[in-house]
Amino acid sequence: MRKKIKILGVEFDTITEKEALEKVEGWLNEKNKRKRVIVTPNPEIILKAENNNRYRKILNKADLSIPDGIGVLWASKFNRISKKQSIPKKIGQWFVSLAIIPFDPKYIRTEIPERLTGSDLTKRICALAAQKNKKVYLLGAQEGIAKLTAKKLKKLYPKLKIAGTHAGTPDKRDEDKIIQKIRKSKADILFVAYGAPSQELWIDRNIKKIPTVKIAAGIGGTFDFLSGNIPRAPKNFRKYGLEWAYRLYKEPRRIKRIFNATIKFPIKVLFK
Ligand code: UDP
Repeated sequence: MRKKIKILGVEFDTITEKEALEKVEGWLNEKNKRKRVIVTPNPEIILKAENNNRYRKILNKADLSIPDGIGVLWASKFNRISKKQSIPKKIGQWFVSLAIIPFDPKYIRTEIPERLTGSDLTKRICALAAQKNKKVYLLGAQEGIAKLTAKKLKKLYPKLKIAGTHAGTPDKRDEDKIIQKIRKSKADILFVAYGAPSQELWIDRNIKKIPTVKIAAGIGGTFDFLSGNIPRAPKNFRKYGLEWAYRLYKEPRRIKRIFNATIKFPIKVLFK
C-alpha cells in the first residue's frame, strides 16, 4: 500500500529517494504493458492545482509523486503539528516552523523524509536505465537544451542509450509530429520538460499513444540545470531551504513565482 500525504489537495508519496528508485526499478522489470507516470510537484504546482480540478486529478492519479521543494516538506510538518490547534497557536507555530528550516533542516523531514528534485530524479533514473539497457527520450526545453542535456548525461553514464531529444512545444498542434518521433525512437522512458501544468497534461493525453514508453515523468526545468544552461544553487543553499534566494539572485524575473512559493503558499497552508 502506498503511504501518501495530501498538501492543499495534492498527494505525495512519503518515501525516501532510495525507495522511489526501487519502485522505478521494479517498474522497469515489469513484463506487463502498464504505463507509469511520475510527477514532481513543488509549492507553485500545488497552487496551480488548487484552482484546476482537472490538473489536480491528473497529479493525484500519478504512480509516484515526489516533492520537488522544501516547501512541501515544511507543509507536511506544519499540518501535523498544527492539527486541531487554535488560530493564534497555529500562527505561532507557523512562524517558528518556517524560521527553523535554515537552522535545522532535519526538523521538517519527519512526515515526508526527503526532497527529491527533478534533476536528481532524472539523473538517478538515467543511471538505472544505463544499467538496465533502457532507452530514454528527452522532450522539451528551449531549442538545443535537451540535446546538450543528453550529452552531459552520456558523459555521466556512458552506457546510457538516448533514444532521442526534441524541443517542440506543448501545443496540441505539435503533438502528432512529436508522438511519431518518440514512437519511432522506441524509447522506454520519457522525460517531459514543458513546465507545469503543460507537461503533466501532455503526458496524460499522449502516453497511451506511445506503446514502448513504460515510464513518463514531468520534470520542469531539469534540462536547464543538467545542461548547465541555468546554474543550480550551491549545495548548502539547497540543504538549508534557501534555494529560492539563489534563484531570485540569478533570475530576478522569477520574483512572482518565488513570491508564490515562499509567501503565498505558506499563507495558504496556514489558512486552509
Ligand atoms: N518550456 C518549454 N516549452 C514551453 C514552456 C516551457 O519547453 O512552452 C520549458 C522551459 O524551457 C523549461 C521548462 O519548460 O526548460 C520548465 O520551465 P520552468 O522554469 O517553468 O520550470 P520549473 O520551475 O517548473 O522547474
